[in-house]
Amino acid sequence: MTIVTLSSGHSRHVRGASEFLDEVVEARKVVDEVGKLYRGEKIYTFHDNTSNTQDENLETVISWHNSITCDLATSIHFNAYEITDQPRGTECLYLTQKDIAGAMSAAIADAGGFIDRGAKYRDDLAFLNQTEMPAILIEVCFVDSSKDTSLYEIYFHAICRAIATVIAGASPA
Ligand SMILES: [Zn+2]
Repeated sequence: MTIVTLSSGHSRHVRGASEFLDEVVEARKVVDEVGKLYRGEKIYTFHDNTSNTQDENLETVISWHNSITCDLATSIHFNAYEITDQPRGTECLYLTQKDIAGAMSAAIADAGGFIDRGAKYRDDLAFLNQTEMPAILIEVCFVDSSKDTSLYEIYFHAICRAIATVIAGASPA
């Protein structure tokens, strides 16, 4: 059984990507729904409602994750590149957790009908570098792809269920 921490990206006052959908609004919905669907040992969820700068937001989110002993820390984000009607897809960023990042991207892609962009190694992200527990950062889909956002709205529940299932299967730390 697995204990996980799950946060939404950015903060109420430090907004993320926004086009056909707003990243902060949707990341919060995903976190709350995954929290309800989770059937592992324990899930803790967090939204940053206080930070006013990006640095403050990263510090707040990372401190929250580091305050709880868990098997996997996960943050929910949405991607953006350029406005398009073409599909872009889902990906999962990792520093040390390549296997679960790959499983997560594949599961979300399968649930939502997204292109599977796969596990992406990143050594330049504060969340991955400073979170003490094993960590992954999910980019659910692109908020500036109308194809992605319509798939996301249709398959929201299945996508959240896929995330809940994969994090529940993380190996104990
Ligand atoms: Zn983001």
